[in-house]
Amino acid sequence: MLQKFSYKKASSVQDAVALSAAPGAHIFAGGSDLLGCLRDGVYEAKTVVSLSSIAELKGIGPKPGGGLRIGALSTLSEIAGHQQVKEQYRALAEAASSVASPQLRNQGTLGGNLCQRPRCWYFRGDFPCRRKGGDTCFAETGENQFHAILGWDRCYMVHPSDTASALVALGARVTIAGPKGRRTIPLESFFILPKVSIVKENVLTPGEVVTEILLDAPPPGLRSTYRKVRERGAFDFATAGAAIAVTVVEGKVAAARVVLSGVAAAPWRSVDAEKALLGKSLDNATVEAAAQAAVKDAVPLEKNAYKIAMVRGILEETLLRLATA
Ligand SMILES: Cc1cc2nc3c(=O)[nH]c(=O)nc-3n(C[C@H](O)[C@H](O)[C@H](O)COP(=O)(O)OP(=O)(O)OC[C@H]3O[C@@H](n4cnc5c(N)ncnc54)[C@H](O)[C@@H]3O)c2cc1C
Repeated sequence: MLQKFSYKKASSVQDAVALSAAPGAHIFAGGSDLLGCLRDGVYEAKTVVSLSSIAELKGIGPKPGGGLRIGALSTLSEIAGHQQVKEQYRALAEAASSVASPQLRNQGTLGGNLCQRPRCWYFRGDFPCRRKGGDTCFAETGENQFHAILGWDRCYMVHPSDTASALVALGARVTIAGPKGRRTIPLESFFILPKVSIVKENVLTPGEVVTEILLDAPPPGLRSTYRKVRERGAFDFATAGAAIAVTVVEGKVAAARVVLSGVAAAPWRSVDAEKALLGKSLDNATVEAAAQAAVKDAVPLEKNAYKIAMVRGILEETLLRLATA
């Protein structure tokens, strides 16, 4: 049952910061994750602070100096359908259009997608797990077929966001407004692993609000894509996925970012796979070496070793597809 909470509509970013800094306050963007968590008792809210009236958080448009600014309240449908996103930041358009269902993409915002809570069934269920302040990870020896193979430490959840991996691959930055002012940081350092905190997924502290995502103008020769494997053809989270952005100059990879989904508690950037691509042409030997490098440190649980082969396959197929893109 949905618990009782008070509802406040912030009139500006400053107002949202002040209201959401109060104990027990949670930000409400589209509500598609927040309300499910409150209904299922994953956490409680004294107050929810709606961002919906804040014009500054809406819209997709040019970034001063080139590139794109995406307001945190932009819906996933808006992003998936945006012409410039489709043409210049294809991985993001593909990731946004792979999220959930059309209804959820119409309701869900980019800020909410990046800040959504984990989908581990023990975290979402009636289990006092470590991420909820308990002292047990039930996935460790339980039903762990969808859990992490990389970067785990006492908690084995995987980050649920598709757009997060695509944006990290594209080198996006995020602006955060908070009680101490604004800061813009690489999105890559927004997400944190369980070794940094076992109870939160990002660097936000009380009162901090994501206001925008910034993308630089794409370099000449950029090719990007997002590949997601899920259990069924209808809406579903990534069992595993990969966002890849490579810059190809005169047939050779001049820059590469390879970011995996569904394998770790944060979008997982594989620097080893990137190194295997640099300076090479995207031929069979190179993509096999990169795919192998991406999983060389993977440590599976009892029921998810299949993810290692799955990630290798996703990377080989996707990189070869990018070779002729
Ligand atoms: C059935 C189902 C299937 C789904 N499938 C997928 C999928 O395949 N891939 C995928 O990526 N996602 C999936 N999702 C998640 C969905 O994309 C998110 O629920 C949605 O993007 C959240 O956006 P929202 O605006 O509704 O966020 P809300 O529910 O309003 O907020 C989500 C969280 O983010 C916080 N928050 C929101 N905006 C901000 C902000 N600007 N600054 C700081 N904190 C903020 C809120 O406090 C809350 O904790 C699925 C969800 C459902 C219910």
